[in-house]
Amino acid sequence: MFLAEPPSTAYDLRFRLFGIAVRVTPFFWVAAAVLGWDLAILFDQIGKTIGAEYPELTSLSTTNPHQGVLLLIWVAAVFVSVLVHELGHALVMKQYGVGSYIVLYHFGGLAVPDQPGMFVRSRGFASPWQQIAVSAAGPGAQLLLAGMLLVALTATGSSILINPPVIGRFVDVTGGKQIPSLPVQAAIWFLLYPSIGWALLNLLPVYPMDGGQIARELFSIFNPHSGISYSLMLSVSVGVGAAVYAYVHNQVFLAMFFGMLAYSSYQILQAYTGRGGSW
Ligand SMILES: [Zn+2]
Repeated sequence: MFLAEPPSTAYDLRFRLFGIAVRVTPFFWVAAAVLGWDLAILFDQIGKTIGAEYPELTSLSTTNPHQGVLLLIWVAAVFVSVLVHELGHALVMKQYGVGSYIVLYHFGGLAVPDQPGMFVRSRGFASPWQQIAVSAAGPGAQLLLAGMLLVALTATGSSILINPPVIGRFVDVTGGKQIPSLPVQAAIWFLLYPSIGWALLNLLPVYPMDGGQIARELFSIFNPHSGISYSLMLSVSVGVGAAVYAYVHNQVFLAMFFGMLAYSSYQILQAYTGRGGSW
């Protein structure tokens, strides 16, 4: 959940879902395609070669649609995953009587409350626990989607070639009967990967991501006087740590992303403590 809303364009896709207005900016599709480019090529390569290596998996080669189609499947999967994330925020806000609308834009989404200030810097509007529930609902909804897919795979005894990230260390979904269609395999993995990755990334206690909002509320509950400062210090430290970790693992984009968040957290911390620590 990021806080700056991009301007409307003539090419926005607009629709309503569960009574919530959704707007998708054109750059969302572009960014998703850029992000999935290598993955589409990877799955295309698997499709081209696997039949020759493993004759029992020939069906994956014969059903290989083309990397352009794989890229479209990826973009659709990212769309579903990010939309589910924002719907999580929006539906829990609705539960607390706060209307909102959703904007999907480059590299993410927003669930914007109708009343300005509400659930953004909410002191006096909603309880900290309600704030935490709203923030956690985004990543929670994505993890629920991933969990439902994993349960469906296990329950039907179906398998895919590649385990999902992180959670794949604990749940192996590669051992059983392989789903004989490459587009279906790709669709499942393309839903699992951003859902788990985006959710876990967002839960890191770094501003202004969901984990940063949750940390701020938790620190404030237990230390109303300097909780916000502590959560900002945590945000700087974890942001720097994540940037270094990403850089060491050759994830330059992610390193820059966390570097920028760490720096902006540092600036907020400076401004906040400089003003005597009261918002
Ligand atoms: Zn979020």
